[in-house]
Amino acid sequence: MSSLYPLALLLDGRPVLVVGGGAVATRRVPALLDAGAVVTVVSPELTPALHGLADAGRIRWEARRFAASDVDGTWLVQVAVDDHAAARLVSEAAEERRVFCVRADDRTAASAWTPAVTRHGAVTVAVLGGGDPRRAVATRDAIAGFLAGPAGAGLAAGKPGAAGKPGPAGGLGHGGEAGAHGDSGAVDGLRRGGEAGARGEAGARGEGRAEMGSVALVGAGPGDPELITVKGRRLIAEADVVVVDRLAPGLLLDELRPDVELVDAAKIPYGPARTQDEINRILVDRARRGLFVVRLKGGDPYVFGRGGEEVIACAEAGVPVTVVPGVTSAIAVPAVAGIPVTHRGVAHEFTVVSGHLAPTHPESLVDWAALARQRGTVVVLMGLKNLPAIAATLIANGRPANTPAAVVQEGTTRGERTLKATLGEIAEQAREAGVRPPAIVVVGDVVALRLEQA
Ligand code: SAH
Repeated sequence: MSSLYPLALLLDGRPVLVVGGGAVATRRVPALLDAGAVVTVVSPELTPALHGLADAGRIRWEARRFAASDVDGTWLVQVAVDDHAAARLVSEAAEERRVFCVRADDRTAASAWTPAVTRHGAVTVAVLGGGDPRRAVATRDAIAGFLAGPAGAGLAAGKPGAAGKPGPAGGLGHGGEAGAHGDSGAVDGLRRGGEAGARGEAGARGEGRAEMGSVALVGAGPGDPELITVKGRRLIAEADVVVVDRLAPGLLLDELRPDVELVDAAKIPYGPARTQDEINRILVDRARRGLFVVRLKGGDPYVFGRGGEEVIACAEAGVPVTVVPGVTSAIAVPAVAGIPVTHRGVAHEFTVVSGHLAPTHPESLVDWAALARQRGTVVVLMGLKNLPAIAATLIANGRPANTPAAVVQEGTTRGERTLKATLGEIAEQAREAGVRPPAIVVVGDVVALRLEQA
């Protein structure tokens, strides 16, 4: 066989024919849809997954056997049947019509091959194994492993060391659209932020051309550096500027390239309100210089993280902004301490509240009396200082004093400490044990489940 000519296809909006509705088609169709292809599946039967896609209108299903005329007007044919004779009919029809044809049943009879693929940001690596799919996959996995590491992530992001930097990460000129509506209220600001986010991400991948940079609010997870999302990690590797605060796991920063500007928000020397303004200003300023800024936030950006304020600030300044959710400490910290926030037959609800204001504080927005009447799990963040008042309020409003309660300090890290007691005694015991922030308080019968892990 002659050597292959590698090529990438733009299938967006183009008809692609898939013949067969079994396991192979089930694996192949999602990638075709992801590429924007208009997929028709010809097969008397479909797997449940393909049925789902047909029902949702994402693929067209012809519930019958293949006819040669099915190939008419298509750009690519994927044969996904085992039966060689049936597959050959499809190949022949495709060949006659000069349409490339991929064959799952017999690679040597195909006119096109789908490589093993790994995608990292803007970089797609496609591997052909010279007729041996296992070799292709093994090679692909080795490259994927390299790209997932610090050096590789930089390469995928087009950073120094790679062959040529694609210029500043830029959104597609979001030029103040949201800013023009800047006074239209917080909710509007958030929605616009989301729209901008889609463009910001394009910028983060180096596909944008305009001057404007972009901001990604990335949830860093509860403390264990491995509890960040894959996407969050990739964006950190692509960042020009990283803005962190106290709760973001420091270990994640080990891998930053030396040229990345690291802004430690905890060191900004103002009070809380001014500090937030200063952070917003830094995000907007760096993005306006065409840089890609990752704002790394502990846990999830929208759980008591002031993420919404930063999104609004960016949107109002016309800076494309995107949010990458994180593993919130509200669920993860109890979990690693052996406490599931729900459990069948024990708790069918859980409520996450901030305890930074005492229950009697005039600005408190928490209905503590309602929480006391509920049976479910109560998870209190930032509640250590006010724990005596919180526990007393819950008891005074109806939670039994013998309800199990726990305090978990520095969950998911080496410093993790868990203390269990009753609601009536938890505050005093936490004080005696010298528990320090960051800590999470959990109240409810799930605390007594004893699901400690090895
Ligand atoms: N956005 C974060 C929460 C920010 S509020 C999230 O989704 O996790 C800060 C509070 O989170 C702390 O006061 C503490 O109550 C809690 N917290 C965060 N990380 C924690 C950890 N590793 N262990 C215990 N509590 C933690």
